[in-house]
Amino acid sequence: MSDVLKLKYKPLIGQTIPDLESFAESQGEKPFRGRQLFDWIYRQQVDDVSAMTDLSKPFREKLANVPIHPLKMITEDVSVSKQTQKILFELLDGNLLESVLMKEGNRITICLSTQVGCAVDCDFCATAKMGFIKNLTTGEIVDQFLQLQKMSEQKITNVVFMGMGEPFLNYKNSIAAADLLHHSKGINMAAWRITISTAGVVPKIRQFSEEQQPYKLAVSLNGTTQNQRLKTMPITETHSFSNLIKASKDYAYNSRNRITFEYVLMDGINDQPKDAEQLIQLLGSIECKLNMIPYNEIGDVYRRPSDEKIEAFMKSLKRAPFPVTVRWSKGTDIDAGCGQLVTSST
Ligand code: SF4
Repeated sequence: MSDVLKLKYKPLIGQTIPDLESFAESQGEKPFRGRQLFDWIYRQQVDDVSAMTDLSKPFREKLANVPIHPLKMITEDVSVSKQTQKILFELLDGNLLESVLMKEGNRITICLSTQVGCAVDCDFCATAKMGFIKNLTTGEIVDQFLQLQKMSEQKITNVVFMGMGEPFLNYKNSIAAADLLHHSKGINMAAWRITISTAGVVPKIRQFSEEQQPYKLAVSLNGTTQNQRLKTMPITETHSFSNLIKASKDYAYNSRNRITFEYVLMDGINDQPKDAEQLIQLLGSIECKLNMIPYNEIGDVYRRPSDEKIEAFMKSLKRAPFPVTVRWSKGTDIDAGCGQLVTSST
């Protein structure tokens, strides 16, 4: 099958029911053939056209010239604990991205990328060092799920949009990807199992709230004041700390959904008892959960606090009126921890 011919068509993964109906019609088929294709691709998760037995033979022959996947799996790293796998994918244009699969008992969580590189430039993050390269298409986001599901022995139970990139700077495609993961005639993942994480793009938090998106929202907080957060997250200059807290509060109030605040704990930066105190003050009246992430070191600038310091910080948060959890990253030996994803096309 000719690659040139294949490039004439958009990959099927990423297309909605109306897209696939139009595609079927463009091939001289009835629209219901598009709905059958949707079922094969997303519900049955079959990517071999010859196995799509209820499609006519001539249509299957035409489909042989149409690419299904927008991504090609290149390598897979497995952590020593075998709990974490990091997958490197190549896009059709040669760019690279990474996704992570994490096992914890029956809970299988995958961390999806939404951009190649990232423009947000958080100082502690490996992806930021790449700069912004491109937004991923809806298909490139959803294909990460489909390919990870294929390689996983267990069913994926949770999806977090927390890999490379800022999902809210690729809002349309990120939400369209979540919609495909959630579609009842396709992958059918419950909305509460899908979390979209933002570094604090305030207008998009407001849009997400106004649109009453059913997915869970996480905000990467990492500081307790404007000046402190600004030191590691330059986005705080455009979207101030107080506006971020206000938008988060309004979202939690209007949606009645508990918002998650992520807090990357960095030695000497934001791990003092006064920070814990400040977090209780700031978040005490918000329906939220606080998830502490001890920093995964990527260079010499920031350090992970000692386990004693982390425990002391957690102790200071004991009287918080919201739940507090610690995420002990399990994939740091393969650079699959939070903020460690980075690729190079060279
Ligand atoms: S932490 Fe997230 S938002 Fe910040 S630079 Fe890294 S990928 Fe972008």
